[in-house]
Amino acid sequence: MISRPGDAVARIIIEAIDLWKEYSIGENTVPVLKGINLTVWEGEFVAIMGPSGAGKSTLMHILGCLDTPTKGRYVLDGEDVSLLDDYRLSKIRNKKLGFVFQAFYLVPWATALENVMLPFLYSDKVPPNAQETAVRALERMGMGDRLHYKPSQLSGGQQQRVAIARALVTNPSLILADEPTGNLDSNSSREVMALFQEMNKEGHTIVLITHDREVAAYASRRVLLRDGRIFDDEVP
Ligand code: ADP
Ligand code: MG
Repeated sequence: MISRPGDAVARIIIEAIDLWKEYSIGENTVPVLKGINLTVWEGEFVAIMGPSGAGKSTLMHILGCLDTPTKGRYVLDGEDVSLLDDYRLSKIRNKKLGFVFQAFYLVPWATALENVMLPFLYSDKVPPNAQETAVRALERMGMGDRLHYKPSQLSGGQQQRVAIARALVTNPSLILADEPTGNLDSNSSREVMALFQEMNKEGHTIVLITHDREVAAYASRRVLLRDGRIFDDEVP
């Protein structure tokens, strides 16, 4: 179900207001994000698109509480996170966010199941059904027969399925994916995107970054970033 503006039960997951990110290089200040305004409602599947260097990853790092803006306000699932310190940001990440990256970032010595259980181990309290929940998440990704495989024993597409299971396992408010198909062949890429689409139909809010139109076509809303600004946005 997609909540839309005007809908009485609409819940805003991302509210970014005039976000700026500037880097100091020598004596110069270089703006990379130049006043981003973005609102994402619960249940949306948004693709952030744009050419290389547009600021997509910089924006994703801020939306993912991995970095803070130089200026502006960012409210994530009702909580203003613009000014939080690293410790508090890490708590928010663990509680509210799931990440999927181009390079998978699985722990190489751990099995698929152990990788998917990791977010529970980093949380304050490990739920009693952590293992069962992780098994179910892997089954959901079609990886039920690979629970005890190490990442090196899996194909790229299978590794990304494990990474998606890991992102989903804590039932986060928001799933963020940065070029999740960037290292995959076209078949695996389509399979992975079909899984994201299914997860979205089941109610997960997804923001996905890509420079690939074919990948972006799986989303229900496309936001075009160019030179640090939102150039176009299909607001629902
Ligand atoms: P995209 O993901 O769209 O390719 P990025 O967000 O990675 O773009 O980068 C946008 C711009 O910001 C690039 O010009 C890049 O050189 C610059 N940039 C990114 N990170 C830093 C940094 N830590 N210091 C200085 N410039 C940076
Ligand atoms: Mg990038």
